[in-house]
Amino acid sequence: MTNPSLLILPGDGIGPEVMAEVRKVIDWFGANGGPVFDVSEDLVGGCAYDAHGTPLHDDTMARAQEVDAVLLGAVGGPKYDSLDFSLKPERGLLRLRKEMDLYANLRPAQCFDALADFSSLKTEVVSGLDIMIVRELTSGVYFGEPRGIIEEGNERVGVNTQRYTESEIDRVARSAFELAMRRGKRLCSMEKANVMESGVLWREVVTQVGKDYPEVELSHMYADAGAMQLTRWPKQFDVIVTDNLFGDLLSDLAAMLTGSLGMLPSASLGAPMANGRPKALYEPVHGSAPDIAGQGKANPIACILSFAMALRYSFDRGEDAARVERAVETVLADGLRTADLLGEEGKAPVSTSEMGDAIVAAL
Ligand code: ATP
Ligand code: MG
Repeated sequence: MTNPSLLILPGDGIGPEVMAEVRKVIDWFGANGGPVFDVSEDLVGGCAYDAHGTPLHDDTMARAQEVDAVLLGAVGGPKYDSLDFSLKPERGLLRLRKEMDLYANLRPAQCFDALADFSSLKTEVVSGLDIMIVRELTSGVYFGEPRGIIEEGNERVGVNTQRYTESEIDRVARSAFELAMRRGKRLCSMEKANVMESGVLWREVVTQVGKDYPEVELSHMYADAGAMQLTRWPKQFDVIVTDNLFGDLLSDLAAMLTGSLGMLPSASLGAPMANGRPKALYEPVHGSAPDIAGQGKANPIACILSFAMALRYSFDRGEDAARVERAVETVLADGLRTADLLGEEGKAPVSTSEMGDAIVAAL
């Protein structure tokens, strides 16, 4: 039997720094009876442009299509600001998402108890929080036609079109129901069916898909009310599924319930492959953070938790994923903090590699 395959794309800025810590976790599993991965590493973003004159080489794209999962660090940096739009580092990431057709973006909002007082909300509102937002990523108002700035009489009009086909709603709804089945078996769908036709269809199709998942308790909420409920009492939710635009807002909102950008993982999933697992790309929510790159300050936890998501959703290793999450919980409970997790209280932060080493030790 061949080993599961993982393509690692560290990228730019703090990407390589946080990915080095993930490599330690991967190596720990390899040496301790966990999964052994067939790991390959390649370039994406500015570093790929420097090497090949393109932010994503065709060979890298082809490899991404073949592997069981892609793990990405971050792309971009001020060095590339003046590049032509089509050559910008971000285009490399967008091409990956588009050609792999990753239509379901998963963003967990999970509160580690040791950081509960770090949230801007009351501790009792966030402690123990564990919810998942599924955002449709490849359609909706960000892509709908017609779009553009048009002349109308003597003024200009900015036009975007919110558009969803039944099949686009169906497939992301299925991803969300599948997820709910593996979690708390509750799914809340959010749209604005009261004012938007796409919302009416969204609600109808999600309800229809729900008939294939009778064990999942499905509810519907208008997205504005959903935003309110997410800040009032987020623990009422398990999985939330919503469209591209509302998901953009709601996932940022939910994520920050729990603290720092340096803590937040994500997964982008596409259609199931021959092995039954979805095409998948895992990455921290944060960017390349050029302001702290190369200083050993970056928090590697977001990237390590992204790998944990890969273990769970691409490799059927839920136990190992939970082990990684417990290791993170342990080091935080021990008081270890990278600089982004410290307030003003003047405690000494640990470095990127010290945090990675501590997580491996806790494993
Ligand atoms: P992008 O456009 O790629 O999202 P950005 O500049 O908007 O980039 P980030 O690169 O995520 O956003 O950085 C935002 C801020 O958060 C920066 O000040 C950065 O130092 C901080 N930051 C981001 N990620 C981390 C991390 N892993 N550890 C510590 N600080 C981080
Ligand atoms: Mg940003």
